[in-house]
Amino acid sequence: MSILTLGLLRRLTETPGGPGDERAIRDLIARALYPYVDTLHTDPMGNLIAFKRGTGASSLRVVAAAHMDEVAFMVTRIDDDGFLHVAPSGGVNPRTVLGKRVQVGPEHIPGVIAVRPPHLAKDREEFTQAPKIHELVIDIGAKDKEQAQSQVKPGHYVTFQTPFRLLGPHPPLDEDAPLPSTGRIQGKALDDRLGCAALMELLAGEPFPFDFYGVFTVQEEIGLRGARVAGNRLQPDVVFILEGTVCPDLPGPPHHKTTPPTTRLGHGPAITQVDRSHIVPPRLLQHLLRTAQTHGIPYQFKHPNAGGTDAAGFTRFRGEPAAIIATPCRYIHSPVAIADLGDFWHGIHLVRASLQTLDALFL
Ligand SMILES: [Zn+2]
Repeated sequence: MSILTLGLLRRLTETPGGPGDERAIRDLIARALYPYVDTLHTDPMGNLIAFKRGTGASSLRVVAAAHMDEVAFMVTRIDDDGFLHVAPSGGVNPRTVLGKRVQVGPEHIPGVIAVRPPHLAKDREEFTQAPKIHELVIDIGAKDKEQAQSQVKPGHYVTFQTPFRLLGPHPPLDEDAPLPSTGRIQGKALDDRLGCAALMELLAGEPFPFDFYGVFTVQEEIGLRGARVAGNRLQPDVVFILEGTVCPDLPGPPHHKTTPPTTRLGHGPAITQVDRSHIVPPRLLQHLLRTAQTHGIPYQFKHPNAGGTDAAGFTRFRGEPAAIIATPCRYIHSPVAIADLGDFWHGIHLVRASLQTLDALFL
């Protein structure tokens, strides 16, 4: 039986959780995981550490991790007209945000990222260039500063307000239905709530041969900050990072054909060989590839032209071997992303099977 229902994935993606403000998403994960793990612990930084005792067959100490935070904004000041001025918290794609719906603060106050109407297109530059992130303002419909201040405070977080949806033809499904094994989904924060969902599924299954720590990290999007703290504390023998990653497999100008896209949707989970901040040790990489082959699990390599992950955070102090397996997500770091459920489930199967036989690597 899977822990993952349609309703659980909906709540995982729709719950706001900017870097440093992961309380709501952490509570959701902890409540759902509670029956399946031996202990749950929140460290001083806010990382959630779920411990699942092993069968005792192996003395390894294994961590798998996914980050809870999503790209967001923080309110820095409220002006006399009641508009909210913000600073980015993580790498939001500025070309995707104008006119988009957001939610502000713990009360989820609805708002819109302000945009000037095209009728005023005298200044061509404003209408042809991406907006400057630090110039964005948010309109919560307040008539003045005082009214805005009654609902929002400086320091409140702003996240996109995007409903989760199952795409394509499918029978009507209620919220308790198991998450389908095929089809595509859209929602915000698929990076990295899909990793969180995959980690929850691994923790809810049968025990592994070794003691297993599932770490739901904080503040990945602003510099892998939670992972460093958790890695230093747990001192694992090996680390698996579960991610949502870039997927630019779009129609585009011809030069796109000479550089392969980082990943392609529907071509299986993406295995990292090397990225901008981490090299997967060859024997761990070969273990993943052998496992995929043995079990007939499709996969793709992530083209090494983008990104960094918590792998660099976890391994910063002790240099443990770390693998990275990711679900490709189109339109990552924007208000809405699209991912393939087949890629997602194959990733879970690949990680689970690789963990079951991990001991052989260390003999
Ligand atoms: Zn991520």
